[in-house]
Amino acid sequence: MYIGRFAPSPTGPLHAGSLVAALASWLDARAHSGKWLVRIEDVDSTRCLPGMDQIILQQLAALGLHSDQPPVYQSQRAPLYQQALDQLVVSGHAYPCACSRRDIALALQHSGQVKARHDALIYPGTCRHGLNGKLARAWRLNTQAQPPFHWQDRRLGDQWQDVALDVGDFILKRADGCFAYQLAVVVDDAAQGITDVVRGQDLTDNTARQILLQRALLLPTPRYLHTPLVLGPNGEKLSKQNGAQALDSQQPLAALNHAAAVLGLAEQHALADALPNWVVQWLCLYNLPP
Ligand code: GLU
Repeated sequence: MYIGRFAPSPTGPLHAGSLVAALASWLDARAHSGKWLVRIEDVDSTRCLPGMDQIILQQLAALGLHSDQPPVYQSQRAPLYQQALDQLVVSGHAYPCACSRRDIALALQHSGQVKARHDALIYPGTCRHGLNGKLARAWRLNTQAQPPFHWQDRRLGDQWQDVALDVGDFILKRADGCFAYQLAVVVDDAAQGITDVVRGQDLTDNTARQILLQRALLLPTPRYLHTPLVLGPNGEKLSKQNGAQALDSQQPLAALNHAAAVLGLAEQHALADALPNWVVQWLCLYNLPP
């Protein structure tokens, strides 16, 4: 049984870019006669805006995209994430880390190899073999024994990453007690029985880390499909950070047609503008079961 999901972070309203991922995951679930679940990824409370979950759910409802089960909230699932972290510590995959950002920068400077990725320093492994009497601040996954590996994306094809080298021992639980996205998403995808992850291409780079975590936790790996990004006028990915406009809930067909065009599904003018039946028309157009 196919189970897909859309997992927005309530840091801003949905925009044309997030709708592409939402629509693709919904269509894929419908095309496979599967279920489609919405998960609110509010694990990082410092980035979430109060009430934004409701706005996102209303935007989805206005587009006819309804979760097949009541939405799950990551903020209510900390015990599950802690359980997974405990399991990783016991199995020797995760370890506590006492380093501040400054400690990491200094250690890298001393070793003469300042390695960074997306502006984040690659952890030099200082606490990998013990805290040396210091207090634990965060928890990390030990990636060092992991050989580089391939995974398949349904749209992008063969993908390759050396997590140990390119990413390093990444954070599972932060110094402020917040669980990291990587851990939360892996625990939730498994707990919800997700068979297919369909999400934006900007997240492709997280997949190898998530597969490593699935293996360490002895969880199944779903299939992955990363959808095309919508670019803004400046040629950058449309995002909440660079001020993408919220979807106009009064114009659901226009929004869906735009997303469909990005997905290469249809000509924009192909859809009728009649609202009461528009979801059914839409499904017929793509030969999908209602
Ligand atoms: N919460 C993430 C976001 O809004 C999506 C995570 C995922 O689909 O795995 O960017």
